Amino acid sequence: MPLGRVPLKAAHFLDGYDTLTEEVSQQEFEGYTGNAGMELTRWYHPDRTGALLAAAGVSHVIEALGHRLHAAASGSIVTAPANLARAALERWIRDGHPGHADRPAPGRMAALLAEVGACDLASMYLGQVLVADADERPVAGLDALAQRFGCAVLAPALAAVWNASRPASLARDAELLAQVAASQDAAGQTVAQMGAAQLVRLVVADSDTALPGGVAVLSHLAQAVVDLSAENLGRQIGKSLTSERADPAIIQAEAILAVRSRRPTLPAWFHAWSAQVATRLEQQTAKAPQAPTDHARAGLPSCDCPDCRLLDAFLRDSRRPRERFPLRESRRQHLQDIIRLQACDVDTTVERRGSPYALVCTKTQASYERALARHRHALAQHARLGAERA
Ligand SMILES: [Zn+2]
Repeated sequence: MPLGRVPLKAAHFLDGYDTLTEEVSQQEFEGYTGNAGMELTRWYHPDRTGALLAAAGVSHVIEALGHRLHAAASGSIVTAPANLARAALERWIRDGHPGHADRPAPGRMAALLAEVGACDLASMYLGQVLVADADERPVAGLDALAQRFGCAVLAPALAAVWNASRPASLARDAELLAQVAASQDAAGQTVAQMGAAQLVRLVVADSDTALPGGVAVLSHLAQAVVDLSAENLGRQIGKSLTSERADPAIIQAEAILAVRSRRPTLPAWFHAWSAQVATRLEQQTAKAPQAPTDHARAGLPSCDCPDCRLLDAFLRDSRRPRERFPLRESRRQHLQDIIRLQACDVDTTVERRGSPYALVCTKTQASYERALARHRHALAQHARLGAERA
């Protein structure tokens, strides 16, 4: 098991540092002799092992906890599982977000905590780790936790997660909500009601901007509201999301179809929402995008350098399909960067003749093709909404 860097402090040693240094100063160290290997022993306080491992990273101590719980002979780790778990949680809460190499598998800690069996640690994980680390996904281990402790015990910690919900954690929090709302546990349903109100408020708060989280958030949230029979919240979702939003109608349609595939019967607010989204899609798809009829394309909105002004003039010109720009390399590169960033309707090649080489720009119909793909997708979604409603 790799431990990484393990910093030591005097207090980590059994019986204190003074005793140790005295022992070490008196200890005879014999190197390899041919008859026996080298001998050197240190003792660490069992209660400190977790802290030592945690110093190397959260996932190390979680791995050690897994060994401690599962390995028939747990080897040299004699620390109580609860102490290891606590050390991991404390480190996790302090760091907030373990780095890429130190990310525990999603839900692993939840599953292990169900085995450790200490409800204060389970609450610490849900109520503090999840709040500190928006990327931790407990769902894989959540059923084990709920079975072990019951939703009533975990309810305050779950409430803390939803109270602290923010755009960065919304996808995870909505997934967690859907899972708790789907449980048959009365205490779970009660705390999920509170969570659903919190998350619906967050999603509908700013109806001018795009949905924070997209299809996954919305489908989990709608499913939870269906499972909780929370009519009022459902009507809020339907009403606010279909108000002035244009593009997200596609996202809403995806979410609606996802919930429909999971729940055979749905309440009135859901059907009303679905009908509104269908109407919105119908309006959006009434007019198909038109292919360009000449060579004029959208110009460049941003850069104002002389090269970009020439490119801009070429793009807007209805008669020129192709243009050469003889420029030295850095200026060709600049134009290519701009073309890529602005998604201009041109393909580029470099003509390696003469000096300087020329950037050759040939106009395409790329933005029309993208609009057409969006249009067809919206038409298909509209058809599916209608077909499954019938
Ligand atoms: Zn420029």
